[in-house]
Amino acid sequence: MKVAIYPGSFDPITNGHVDIIKRASELFDKVIVAVIRNPEKKARFSLDERVEMLQQSFRTVKLVEVDSFDGLLVDYAKKKKANIIVRGLRAVSDFDYEFQMALTNRKMAPKIETLFFMTDYKYSYLSSSFVKQIARLGGDISELVPSAVANKLSSK
Ligand code: ADP
Repeated sequence: MKVAIYPGSFDPITNGHVDIIKRASELFDKVIVAVIRNPEKKARFSLDERVEMLQQSFRTVKLVEVDSFDGLLVDYAKKKKANIIVRGLRAVSDFDYEFQMALTNRKMAPKIETLFFMTDYKYSYLSSSFVKQIARLGGDISELVPSAVANKLSSK
């Protein structure tokens, strides 16, 4: 059974993330979307809110499981018996950080492979912070995020 983990802040999930999750779920038996509990990074949404928005967005998709974790990603991956880490790349600016993280994780856990999905061109400009900024300024974000996120943002 090929289990992949897609870790991230998902603050909040965008259609760019959704696209990566859908594409990954076509390749693996299970994709665990795992929200990182990172007290150092100030988030707009609480961990529970982020998990809930993900659950609402993937309620009907059996192969996708939503979870959260703290501590080292490689330890969490071992606990979940996953040997693939999925990440997305939008632009060259993502590369340095992703490269460093993938190599660090490989150093700690050589059997766990990080796989990168290139963004779809439709989402290459899209980020969680961009969505939050537009919402704060009263812009329409309905085409950028799943409806669970659009509803939550408009109610905030
Ligand atoms: P993190 O704080 O761990 O970077 P994010 O939620 O911002 O968490 O992103 C999780 C992963 O999804 C990262 O690999 C990021 O590059 C990728 N990602 C974010 N937005 C997009 C997008 N629009 N298209 C493709 N990948 C994306």
